[in-house]
Amino acid sequence: MKTCICLRCDQHFCYRWQTKDDGTKSLISDPCNHHHGKFRWDKTQVSEKNKKKKTWTCCGQRYYRSPPCTTVKHHVTDLNTKFDDSSQRYVATGQTTIRTRDIVALDCEMLFTVDGLQLGRVTVLNSRGKKLFDECVLYPEEDIIDYCTQYSGLTDADILFATYTFEEVRDYVLSIISEDTIVVGHSVENDLKVLKIAHSKVVDTSVLYPNDNPRHKTALRTLTEKHLGRTIQAGANGHDSTEDALAALDLAILHINNTLPW
Ligand SMILES: [Zn+2]
Ligand SMILES: [Zn+2]
Repeated sequence: MKTCICLRCDQHFCYRWQTKDDGTKSLISDPCNHHHGKFRWDKTQVSEKNKKKKTWTCCGQRYYRSPPCTTVKHHVTDLNTKFDDSSQRYVATGQTTIRTRDIVALDCEMLFTVDGLQLGRVTVLNSRGKKLFDECVLYPEEDIIDYCTQYSGLTDADILFATYTFEEVRDYVLSIISEDTIVVGHSVENDLKVLKIAHSKVVDTSVLYPNDNPRHKTALRTLTEKHLGRTIQAGANGHDSTEDALAALDLAILHINNTLPW
């Protein structure tokens, strides 16, 4: 098994299994101590010289190397380690598909498995915001490292009782999106990356509405609140790919209406 660097704590690690008395295998726990927030400028923390200070958004500690405030059972990686698995190879959108649409909105939710960051749920909407496809992906329970429920909204019931495998879900998405379909989304490269789909015609709302700082992207939630007067991702259950895809679609339509000369 390949050694990876944990996305959360920067430590090198590799997943290891132990065989239980009944012959089944279980992942050996390798605790990950980290900060689950970000180290950011904090307007409420001003030093004597009236300089702004950075703090961890998760626990308010003031130093980058402050002791981690969060411990979880396993480290996580976004590296896919099953290089020999055909499902891990990219598939390009084709010329003709069964259910081709001219324009679709796309959003994915992701989770961590023993094979890195993977697709957990995908939603595809048509140009009027109607749902064309919305499915979770089936994974064996022993492969799941973290459902990332706080961000993805995914739960064990969503994944363990899902109907379709990754390949089946991707095949259906490829039956909707041809190489001429315009795919609307927010930071849509991340969605295509986790779907392992190569596609070039995209409208990305993170590009239509650029951040003042070119090194950053404005969050979909912020854009939706500012331009559509709508609140999304507000619940305790994380993101909802249907809600996010619709927000990206409405933002793209608003931008087109505001910029075209009619
Ligand atoms: Zn913290
Ligand atoms: Zn870690």
